[in-house]
Amino acid sequence: MPSPLLETLLILQDRDTKKLGIEVQLKAVPRDVAAVEAKIAAEKAAIVGHEIETTLKQIGEFEGQQLELMYGLDEAKKKFAAAEAVLKTNISGHEARIKTLREREVSLAAELKDAQVAFNLAREPVTEPARRIYDRIAVRTQPVIVATNSGTCCGCHLKISNEVETAARGKGPAGPNQLATCENCGRIVYWES
Ligand SMILES: [Zn+2]
Repeated sequence: MPSPLLETLLILQDRDTKKLGIEVQLKAVPRDVAAVEAKIAAEKAAIVGHEIETTLKQIGEFEGQQLELMYGLDEAKKKFAAAEAVLKTNISGHEARIKTLREREVSLAAELKDAQVAFNLAREPVTEPARRIYDRIAVRTQPVIVATNSGTCCGCHLKISNEVETAARGKGPAGPNQLATCENCGRIVYWES
């Protein structure tokens, strides 16, 4: 059983992880939108290129033959119209995707707000010194709190000393409310039987 202090820290970590997960998803949205916009631009550029190429080709083929030249241009126009119809369908698909992404952005922003509130609430019961330790580790690594497994830290997978293990078991000199940290990665470690 984790100590009451550790319980509060594990809850804090849970809320922190949720918040960070939403932040990552939210940050990805503009990138995803930009990727879809780039697709639209590329398809538009391709069709303009296609139109010019087809027309020039037709003119080249029918040069000097007035009627056939006109026929050729007409064919080119038809082909272009067909390609344009495909483009329109593709673009409306892309635009729908952008709309979905924008909606997702709004709902993620709302979720993040809630997650931030939950995170702040979870900080309250944690003692000030423990919060400081947590924050110090959190800025450089996640997760902050890990279990030990057969004398190793589950964060960095290196062996922890006997002292740390004893403290992680809540049997150190300061009792169950002493936080044990891994000597190698600095994470808070706890004993999970
Ligand atoms: Zn470690």
